[in-house]
Amino acid sequence: MIISAQRFSCLILVACFTNLETRLHRINHCSTISSSMPPKNIKTVRDLIYWEYSKLISGSAVGDRKNYGFIMHTFKKLSEGKLHPSAILRENKKLVEEQANRCAYCGSTENLHWEHIVPKSRGGPDTIDNQVQACQKCNLSKSDKDPFEWYGKERRYEIPRLVLGKYLKISFEAHEKTGTLDSEDMNEDGMLDVYDLGAVFKKP
Ligand SMILES: [Zn+2]
Repeated sequence: MIISAQRFSCLILVACFTNLETRLHRINHCSTISSSMPPKNIKTVRDLIYWEYSKLISGSAVGDRKNYGFIMHTFKKLSEGKLHPSAILRENKKLVEEQANRCAYCGSTENLHWEHIVPKSRGGPDTIDNQVQACQKCNLSKSDKDPFEWYGKERRYEIPRLVLGKYLKISFEAHEKTGTLDSEDMNEDGMLDVYDLGAVFKKP
C-alpha cells in the first residue's frame, strides 16, 4: 500500500494520541520555543534525545518543530515509555523512499553519493541508518562534521527531518553502547546541549 507523507504523518498522530484529542487542541496554540537551551527538566543525554525526537514528532504532527506545548507533551510520553520513537523511525523509512535520488540536504539531483551522517572516521556506523544521499557540494561542505556541528546552533532547526531522525537514532545507540545515556555533560563544557549528543563519537 502506498501512502503519502502527509497521510503517514496523520496516521502516526492518530495512532499515538487518539485519546488525547482535547488536550492536543489546547496545546496546539501554546507558545513556541524561543530559547536555544532545552528546558530545566532535560537533564541527561537520554532526555535530550527524547526532546529532539519530540520536536521532530511535533514537526510531523502539527507542522511546527517549535510548538513547545506539543513537544513537552510528547517528551513526557516518551520519558514515561508511553510512546516509542519507533513512529519517527518508521517515518524515516518512508522519507528515504520519497526522497530517493535527491540530496538529503539541498534537494539537488546531481552528483549524488551515499554520505555518512556521522563520518566513519569518527566511528559512525557503516549502516543505512547512518547514510543519506548527498550531492558533491554538500558532501564537501559538510566534510567530517556531524549535522549539529555543520548547521551550527543558530540554524539547527534547518537540519532536514530525515537527517536529524537518523542522527538521533545512531546517537542514541552509540550512547547506549558506551553507557552514557544518563550523562549530564558528556563533552564537559559546563552544559547539556545538542553537542553532547555527538560527543560519544570521536573528535574530528
Ligand atoms: Zn546538496
